[in-house]
Amino acid sequence: MGKIIIFLGPPGAGKGTQSERLIKEYGFVQLSTGDILREAVRNGTELGKKAKQYMDAGQLVPDEIIIGIIKEKLNELKDKNVIFDGFPRTIPQAEALDEMLSQEGKEVDVVILFDVDDEEVIKRLSGRRIDPNTGKTYHIIYNPPPEGIEVIQRDDDKEEVIRKRLEVYHSQTEPLADYYKKKGKLVVVNANNPPDDVYNQIKEVL
Ligand code: ADP
Ligand code: AMP
Repeated sequence: MGKIIIFLGPPGAGKGTQSERLIKEYGFVQLSTGDILREAVRNGTELGKKAKQYMDAGQLVPDEIIIGIIKEKLNELKDKNVIFDGFPRTIPQAEALDEMLSQEGKEVDVVILFDVDDEEVIKRLSGRRIDPNTGKTYHIIYNPPPEGIEVIQRDDDKEEVIRKRLEVYHSQTEPLADYYKKKGKLVVVNANNPPDDVYNQIKEVL
């Protein structure tokens, strides 16, 4: 693996949006556990069957399952520059990642924390729409899909589930900021700002 970057932040912070830009401009590879899980649900695999109940409820999929997915994927990454998007989400996941990387003499290079207010997250997630054919993300107000593109809403982007996901973020994932700060890896960007501004902040970090 080349550079290893973690995007940390609540759902709807803009992690996927910024990954898309870095992939396009610099050839980064993105590893999104959410995308992997949604594909498994669509394909009706064993993994998908196990994960669906948690995802629909806005809860985290158990650590063993997530760590298993990452173990499998790490081998495919070789010397690419990788963005982990939506992983790790718990302290045990972060510890498992450190362990896996250290076995290859690697470590996380930088963790970018997307700092964004809860009200902004709710606005973004309730307006988020996806083009199922390309996976591209839009927003009904901030970034409307072009004419003729049929978009769908994610099942977990419904108001009640959004609130649950935010609660889960604050209790289980936010402690990772401190975990990485102690290791001197944490950089915070103001993710309340428009996408171009957030992208510039990220480019400065990298
Ligand atoms: P995440 O991957 O962190 O869950 P997304 O990248 O999917 O978040 O963004 C969530 C929603 O907010 C999407 O509809 C996206 O178009 C929109 N969005 C992303 N970044 C911004 C931003 N900086 N300002 C306003 N809306 C944004
Ligand atoms: P995301 O696409 O990152 O918003 O993730 C969607 C859902 O997938 C989450 O609400 C969780 O149920 C599950 N999920 C994704 N990544 C993880 C992870 N690292 N650990 C646990 N659950 C995850």
